[in-house]
Amino acid sequence: MGRHYDAVVIGGGLLGCITAWMIGRDGGQVLLVERDQINQHASGRNAGSLHFQLEYRMIERGLDAARKAAEAMPLHLEAARLWSELPALTGENIEVKQSGGLMIAEDAAQVALLEQKTEIERAWGLDISVIDRAGIDRIAPYLSPRVVAAAWCPVEGKADARTAAPAMARAALRAGAEIRTRCEVLALSRQGGCWQVDLQDRGVGMRDRVTADAVVIAAGVWTTKLGEMMGAHLPTVPLALTMSVSLRIPKLMSHLVQHAGGRLSLKQALDGNILIGGGWPARLPLGADGHPDFDAKPDLLRDSLAGNAAMAIRVLPELAGLPMLRSWVGTTTITPDQLPLVGPVPGQPGAFVATGGSAFTLGPSFAQVLAGLVAGRAPALDMSKFDAARYAKG
Ligand SMILES: Cc1cc2nc3c(=O)[nH]c(=O)nc-3n(C[C@H](O)[C@H](O)[C@H](O)COP(=O)(O)OP(=O)(O)OC[C@H]3O[C@@H](n4cnc5c(N)ncnc54)[C@H](O)[C@@H]3O)c2cc1C
Repeated sequence: MGRHYDAVVIGGGLLGCITAWMIGRDGGQVLLVERDQINQHASGRNAGSLHFQLEYRMIERGLDAARKAAEAMPLHLEAARLWSELPALTGENIEVKQSGGLMIAEDAAQVALLEQKTEIERAWGLDISVIDRAGIDRIAPYLSPRVVAAAWCPVEGKADARTAAPAMARAALRAGAEIRTRCEVLALSRQGGCWQVDLQDRGVGMRDRVTADAVVIAAGVWTTKLGEMMGAHLPTVPLALTMSVSLRIPKLMSHLVQHAGGRLSLKQALDGNILIGGGWPARLPLGADGHPDFDAKPDLLRDSLAGNAAMAIRVLPELAGLPMLRSWVGTTTITPDQLPLVGPVPGQPGAFVATGGSAFTLGPSFAQVLAGLVAGRAPALDMSKFDAARYAKG
């Protein structure tokens, strides 16, 4: 029998790494296990947008859906604060830049949507306002004249998806966490009041078992599978998404740009490349059993690349003719009701889970709740709407 830990965190994406750091900082003995390498999956392949206003996917189905999505706003506000503090708290050079975000509108219907959306967001305490074209000319003159208004949120911004999780893994190590990579959790069971976690080294194939008072599932698209290992229903919906990045250009834009009428996110990385994303789909391969195969690479779709590029060029004319450096895909999860899934695993004492939606942006708030639950602290926020128990009735 292997070592006993206060907590085993499953998953070395951003969420698992921040959670392990927070548990270690609380004085907990924590093991983080990752079946691949740190940051190989969604956390290392995303757009790095820190979007605290409601995203397009939350408003495209109307205001009732937007009001529902806004119930997660306390987690957005907490994440905005935590991201700004992470570099100082960890001593890591995490490239966080919260220089503001714009959700842009090109016609009257989109402007009306922005007005209604920002009213909902302000009611939850988000600092956001609608600015007209004169306002856009003052802060974002790089946007096409087609853009007539925007929702301006000063705390939005970006972080570098390639470096954030590794930085948090280093911080976790310094806080006393143990990290095992190429190490897969094969089974989870409860015995004698604690968790038995069966592990396999994917390099040499050796098996091991450790025990823990708590287990944290921070496993992204594998969350449902990990839930099944303990007999719990943790439903997730996988989404394969497309990203592109341009060659470097001189500094043009310092904001995160999203669109009120379609899937688009634009930002310029610190080294000058323009990142283009916003949720255009890729094709998720199916395995022999007919279920998505998360170990296979999703296929880029020509229509997604073309659609994403056309929309980007329309609102940022500077992009026309600019060569793309590369395009790639990643797979992420949302939940069936699009609200985050964060909290205790129903019927499984000492087991906690978080996933769903923009878990890069919200990773720090999810981790704060998870680390608190591991330490026996009740969350400061009302988390009842995000509890997995909402799915327990099937
Ligand atoms: C293309 C794209 C763009 C996106 N853009 C944004 C954005 O701009 N902003 C934003 O907020 N969000 C964005 N997202 C979503 C965001 O990337 C994810 O919500 C977030 O990264 C999830 O982090 P995670 O740590 O929970 O999961 P992951 O990063 O997927 O990490 C989970 C880890 O668990 C490991 N694991 C699974 N099963 C086991 C097991 N049995 N044993 C051991 N380890 C296991 C996996 O190997 C994996 O490394 C985007 C996603 C994609 C794909």
